[in-house]
This record gives sequence, structure tokens and C-alpha cells, in this order.
Amino acid sequence: MSELPQERRLVTAIPGPKSQELQARRVAAVAAGVGSVLPVFAARADGGIIEDVDGNRLIDFGSGIAVTGVGASAEAVVRRASAQLADFTHTCFMVTPYEGYVAVAEALAELTPGDHAKKSALFNSGAEAVENAVKIARAHTKRQAVVVFDHGYHGRTNLTMALTSKNMPYKHGFGPFAPEIYRVPVAYGYRWPTGPENCGPEAAAQAIDQITKQVGAQNVAAIVIEPLLGEGGFIEPAKGFLPALSEFARDNGIVFVADEIQSGFCRTGQWFACEDEGIVPDLITTAKGIAGGLPLAAVTGRAEIMDAAHAGGLGGTYGGNPVACAGALGSIETMKELDLAARARHIETVMKARLGAMQEKYEIIGDVRGRGAMLAIELVKDPSTKEPNPEAAAALAKACHQEGLLVLTCGTYGNVLRFLPPMVIGEELLSEGLDILEQAFTRI
Ligand SMILES: *Cc1c(COP(=O)(O)O)cnc(C)c1O
Repeated sequence: MSELPQERRLVTAIPGPKSQELQARRVAAVAAGVGSVLPVFAARADGGIIEDVDGNRLIDFGSGIAVTGVGASAEAVVRRASAQLADFTHTCFMVTPYEGYVAVAEALAELTPGDHAKKSALFNSGAEAVENAVKIARAHTKRQAVVVFDHGYHGRTNLTMALTSKNMPYKHGFGPFAPEIYRVPVAYGYRWPTGPENCGPEAAAQAIDQITKQVGAQNVAAIVIEPLLGEGGFIEPAKGFLPALSEFARDNGIVFVADEIQSGFCRTGQWFACEDEGIVPDLITTAKGIAGGLPLAAVTGRAEIMDAAHAGGLGGTYGGNPVACAGALGSIETMKELDLAARARHIETVMKARLGAMQEKYEIIGDVRGRGAMLAIELVKDPSTKEPNPEAAAALAKACHQEGLLVLTCGTYGNVLRFLPPMVIGEELLSEGLDILEQAFTRI
């Protein structure tokens, strides 16, 4: 643990002179296609604070995109990963295996929904996990088609770009994309034409109709969905939608894949977001929150599906790296010890009350949504037309950044401000962050 004081502190403008110097080097050396939300260079981070190279301390409402829920230098993660680092860094699990990989697979079998026999395979990134879930589903079903959803996000590799809905910035100019991907409507309550009450069943009926009429259920290997959509705008599929799709998948021999890469590991107030409606996915993909910041990803699911791929068909040089596995075991230990799912629910209670009060005051807040420590506000020009207001989202984010609060935007229309504080953030930082957000509304 870095013993970083859990206090906001601004000692220079944001970004400060040292960050600006590093930014100049970065612009010269790093490819322009790799962006950054805020060009403040990190020196230390833990709990709810990121300290930059100029000594500024920012309140973290981003967790490195839902990764460091346990903090960015959690004691158990650092301890276990450091010990592993000293023992060995790598052997390659496909060459000579090690216990950490097996222990992570056992933990995933225990923590993910359902009491059936489960197995896992480990990878490095979320995109790689999603790709492998598709490989496994195709091997199991001997079918090819994959169904995904409007506003879905699944990664930046060729197959996962194809699975992703939004063109700019994820896909533009990077095609051609993988074939046999079919996109259907999702239950986006706030923007559903007949209103949020009808949205779940109506959207499910539309999605199922499109699948059966345009693809043919018997051709579909997998339905891949985020139980709480991340990059697409923190959209909670309206109630009834996920159960209907999961039942449809079961009735038609389709592998139902929950992409919990952003929503998993206590983030939404449960170990996994799909538990909210009692969904038991056939396969579940995890990454981000799994290992306290170390790169690790997994596909976990029904043993008979996971075993469908031939020996040697899955893997990768670094997949399930021993240091990352040690980090995951430390992160999971921390989540259990501190009951971070409960902590996420508490964050929801505090934040939703404040965000709801802001919505009463500022009519550009069209919607307040999300669960646990995965919350968002959708900004509109006018609540009656719901015309997206990406300018307001950008201006609010900028105003927050200048005051030392790190927030992120998202959404197909770029008009959603999202909040992903580490679950371990202190009460005072949380409320100070919300104060800064509220002041930002008066300043824009
Ligand atoms: C971030 C994300 C991915 C991709 O993960 P990477 O580790 O960036 O490859 C896939 N699915 C969802 C839901 C994500 O949020």
C-alpha cells in the first residue's frame, strides 16, 4: 500500500508543468491513435486518489475504466503479486503450469452464477476473452453466427470491433470486419419509443424476431451481451429483456455469453451484474476488475461447453500470467474481506440521491442510471426531445478535471457522464467529488 493521503490537493494548474513536459515527449513518441482522457501523468495511485507528477491529487471517479475497484495499489494485490514476481515471472502455462492459474479458475467457478460444473481459460485482455468465448461457442455448437446488440462494446481486435456497435472511434477506417455478426435492438428504456415500462418485453420480442427471421436460430452459435452496457452509455437493459433472451438461447441451443468485463467483480453491487435478474449465463467473460490492475481476463462457463475446443485450440503465450493471477487472488481476497459488493451498493445510495437532486435542478440531465459503483447521467439539450448533448458532457468533464475530479464520458452519442469510483473510495472523497460535479453544472 502506498499510504497515499486520501485528500484532493491542487498545487498547479491541471495539467501541471511536469505533466506538460511529459506530454510533449509523449506526443513525439507515442502513436496519435492512442488517446488519453486527461494528460496528467500519474506518479502514485491508491484508494480514491491519483497523484500526478506535479504533486496534484485527483479524486478518482474512473478506476482506470472500472479496473481498480480495490484501489490501484491494494495491499493484498501488491503483496501477492510481489511475492510471485520474486519467485518467477513466467513459464507459460502451456509449457509448464503453475498453481495460481488453477486457483483463479477455481475462484471463478465459485464466484460466477450457477451451481453447475464450470471451467475457465485465462487470457490477457477483455477483447481476447470475448474472441475466445466466440471460438468456444462455435466449437460447441458447430454453428457460426454471433448475435450482438445496439450500443454494445466488446473490444478493439478485428472480431471484437465487428461485435462492437459504435463506429467512431472504435471501427472507423479499420475494416473489413469479421463476417457472421448480427446486431439486434437492446432494451434502452430511456430512449424506447413507447416508454421504459414496455421496453423490456417489446425489445426482446423485436430482437428475437430479427434473430429468427434474419439469421435463423439454428445458425446462431452465441448471443453476446453486456448485462449492463458500458461504453455504449451505461444502459441497464429494461427488466425482462435479459431473461427473455437467455431463455430464447436455452430453447434454441445457443450459447448465452454475458460480457461482464466492465460490470463484473462487485462493480454493480453484486459479484456479477447478471445476478440482478437471476440470469445464469452459459459463458461469462471477465477482465478489468478481476486483478486489481494487472492484465488478466477469463472465459468461465459450463464445463461441457468450455471443453468443446480441441486440445491446443485455446491459449496464448502470456494468458494467465502468474503475476497477474497472484494479483487476481489478492483482488478477490480484498473484495471478500471488505465486502466490496455491499460497498458498491452504498456508493449507489449516496450517489443516486445526489444525482437525483441535481436532475431536479438541471434539466439537461435526462436520465440518472446504473447500479452500484457503475452510475451515469445522460445529458440532453431538452428533456422533451431527448436530443443528445455531447457538448455538455465534454464541458462538464473538463470542468471537473480542472477542479481535480477525474470523470469519464461514454455513450453512442457521447452524451453520458459515467462514474466508476473505486469501491474502496472514502466517504469524504465521494461526497467532495459530487460537490465538484454539482459546481461544474453552475460553471458551464
Ligand atoms: C473494456 C471492455 C472490453 C475489452 O476489454 P480490453 O481489456 O480493453 O480488451 C470488452 N467488453 C467490455 C464490456 C468492456 O467494457
